[in-house]
Amino acid sequence: MKEYSLNTKCVQGGYTPGNGEPRQIPIVQSTTFKYATSEDMGKLFDLEAEGYFYTRLQNPTNDYVAKKICELEGGTAAMLTSSGQAASFYSVFNIASCGDHVVSSASIYGGTYNLFAVTMKRMGIEFTFVDPDCTEEELNAAFRPNTKAVFGETIANPALTVLDIEKFAKAAHAHGVPLIVDNTFATPINCRPFEWGADIVTHSTTKYMDGHGAGVGGCIVDSGKFDWTKYPDKYPGLCTPDDSYHGVIYTERFGLEGAYITKATAQLMRDFGSIQSPQNAFILNLGLESLHVRVKRHCENAMAVAQFLKNHEKVTYVNYCGLEGDKYYDLAQKYLPNGSCGVVSFGVKGGRKAAENFMKHLQLGAIETHVADARTCCLHPASATHRQMNDAELEACGVKPDLIRYSCGIEDADDLIADLAQALDQI
Ligand SMILES: *Cc1c(COP(=O)(O)O)cnc(C)c1O
Repeated sequence: MKEYSLNTKCVQGGYTPGNGEPRQIPIVQSTTFKYATSEDMGKLFDLEAEGYFYTRLQNPTNDYVAKKICELEGGTAAMLTSSGQAASFYSVFNIASCGDHVVSSASIYGGTYNLFAVTMKRMGIEFTFVDPDCTEEELNAAFRPNTKAVFGETIANPALTVLDIEKFAKAAHAHGVPLIVDNTFATPINCRPFEWGADIVTHSTTKYMDGHGAGVGGCIVDSGKFDWTKYPDKYPGLCTPDDSYHGVIYTERFGLEGAYITKATAQLMRDFGSIQSPQNAFILNLGLESLHVRVKRHCENAMAVAQFLKNHEKVTYVNYCGLEGDKYYDLAQKYLPNGSCGVVSFGVKGGRKAAENFMKHLQLGAIETHVADARTCCLHPASATHRQMNDAELEACGVKPDLIRYSCGIEDADDLIADLAQALDQI
């Protein structure tokens, strides 16, 4: 579907029914698939023939949805995972193992930071976290001979920093490693990192892609552009025989366009099993069908809310990269010219106590840890996700004690603003 626009791909990508076949993607609710002979099945196990044999490895419903996201990002191969966390883990672990090193932006989702800094560290992979706004020299200085990848988020959750994708891609490629970008907040509607040099994209589909707070999920997409075969010593898993799969060499058998995702499926999904259920993939696809319409509205609402907050006397600061004067406005103009995301963060006069008080008075904006949902939701990190930290610790990790994260849904902007106004009046 490469010739169609993103809007059309959202609706009709990934699945084209034949004559008399279901219009909507079928939910193949089956763990297993039947074959006439053991030889037939053996060929699948040896990765010599394409087909389905067990849903932990592949399922038709999941493949339709992965294909749609692949088309939206402009990639060559994609896989669904059970969550965004699983996508982040697989994306790195597919090319890095014990004794290796990864450079990551410090401004990333808290769950990803914990995965990298604590859990993957225990697996023997070391991470160096760099300020996304660092100079090229500082970025280059973070690399080591055993560095295997660079990781960042297009728009970071919750800091709302914008990644200079070209700067990160240039440094990664100069050191012979791929750039992995978590594109959850921007979605391919607003930014397609492959167009700026990223090699692999991940998503928490739980957010805008599903968009209705209905199903947790993740996705990994490969651009097919990174040439692993130039660095066979660095990526032996992709360039030398896999003894756990009858000696297959992924880059030889599947080409640059298929090697990375096939390896992640054949090894990581086989062994860790973080699959998305076909039911959830179906729900995700319903969300994708309206992604282009919803994202536009999320951004319009966020812009209206950000402008209202910026002019309110009880608001001390507003972070929204679409707002002129924002620290990330210029980067957003470059990478996100049609809109950024629906999430705005801001502070209120009176600090932590006033922020807590303000949240209590909101009627439309519900207090949730979730973001990027059709329904407006908000969070005061200092009294929720970060409540164990004191004010000094909060400042150190870039979350001010009075910071409120407000995720604009797709309701009417005037109603959201009226709700914010009455809550601000009461503090
Ligand atoms: C939520 C989120 C994740 C984790 O995704 P889950 O689906 O909750 O596992 C990863 N990255 C970003 C940017 C997120 O917002």
